[in-house]
Amino acid sequence: MNDATTTQSSTETKAQNTFSGILVNKDEQGYRAALQQIDQSMLPEGDVSINVLYSTLNYKDGLAITGKSPVVRQFPLVPGIDLVGVVEHSDSADFKVGNVVINNGFGVGEKHSGGLAQKARMKSEWLIPLPANFSPKQAMIIGTAGYTAMLCVLALEKNGVTPEKGEVLVTGANGGVGSFAISILAKLGYTVVASTGRLDESSYLKALGANEVIHRDTLSGQGKPLAKERWAGVIDSVGSHTLANACASTKYGGTVAACGLAQGMDFPASVAPFILRGVTLAGIDSVMRSIEDRKEAWQRLSDILEPSVFDDIAQEINLEQVVEAATKLLDGEIRGRVVVNVQGE
Ligand code: NDP
Repeated sequence: MNDATTTQSSTETKAQNTFSGILVNKDEQGYRAALQQIDQSMLPEGDVSINVLYSTLNYKDGLAITGKSPVVRQFPLVPGIDLVGVVEHSDSADFKVGNVVINNGFGVGEKHSGGLAQKARMKSEWLIPLPANFSPKQAMIIGTAGYTAMLCVLALEKNGVTPEKGEVLVTGANGGVGSFAISILAKLGYTVVASTGRLDESSYLKALGANEVIHRDTLSGQGKPLAKERWAGVIDSVGSHTLANACASTKYGGTVAACGLAQGMDFPASVAPFILRGVTLAGIDSVMRSIEDRKEAWQRLSDILEPSVFDDIAQEINLEQVVEAATKLLDGEIRGRVVVNVQGE
């Protein structure tokens, strides 16, 4: 073998052993995320290896990529709390080579490398099969945001909030959770009031199914312990004063599903809505939810969502565009969902 052939074959081997992905690092040079070639040896432990097709950008991914909050707890790490891909290797009886699987959460993209790369290695107990009605891309348009919106709707249903009971408020309406919450509620026959800082996006929110759009300023300031009863239910992805005011204006016996903190992690409220109006505050965590709950949520999503919703809600990007899009997401410049084609040019 001459020198040129040796060099060529070592380059090919290197190419086979590496893949493209976003890597987050924190060291003496500071916190940074960049698209780079990642060596296969950097994949974490797990019994299922996956050729990733799509991932997505959630609020938490924005925090992980920009370093704005300490979401990433191990370095270096591939961010991306969601992925869909094809099983390449499996030591699990539950999944075979060629199966298409999805993962949402379980600490992936926080302490275990996640979906914003072309390869991933996961624990089989974190995976569910791709639901039959969805394409891989559609599953990632839904992602953690859509699945969390569904968990919120399930919490309202389980607490007896039916369409006949009255209006349901959705905060953070233009965001991923908010957009899916509106679509799901509207399809189920609820009257939906969308709260947003972007009234110029009202036509988008109404196309998703909002009956009325209100400015988020009406909810985001310091309020009273109790306000006029209006909401039969609330899906809140904003937290802080917005959540406090939403509870204060929920009708007797209503339910508020709280899943997010886009305004803040604080909860400057009183107990008045809970002890005087029997309001239920339902906390929603998607990350550690049981596989049974996940399957129920995904099944309901596949029963409810119309195919057209995916075109309305999503925009597609590739890995090169991820870092810039993460900043825009946190700056509130993105509407709906960003789906990442990790194999795309
Ligand atoms: P997005 O960034 O897509 O949407 C967030 C939306 O919140 C924005 O589009 C904006 O909506 C609104 N918003 C942003 N800043 C403020 C502010 N200062 N005051 C009031 N509203 C604001 O995020 P996601 O939809 O992916 O996530 C929403 C929240 O839910 C996040 O906090 C996220 O961490 C949390 N989350 C929690 C999960 C769980 O398991 N509990 C799972 C998924 C998400 P608009 O422009 O319409 O006002």
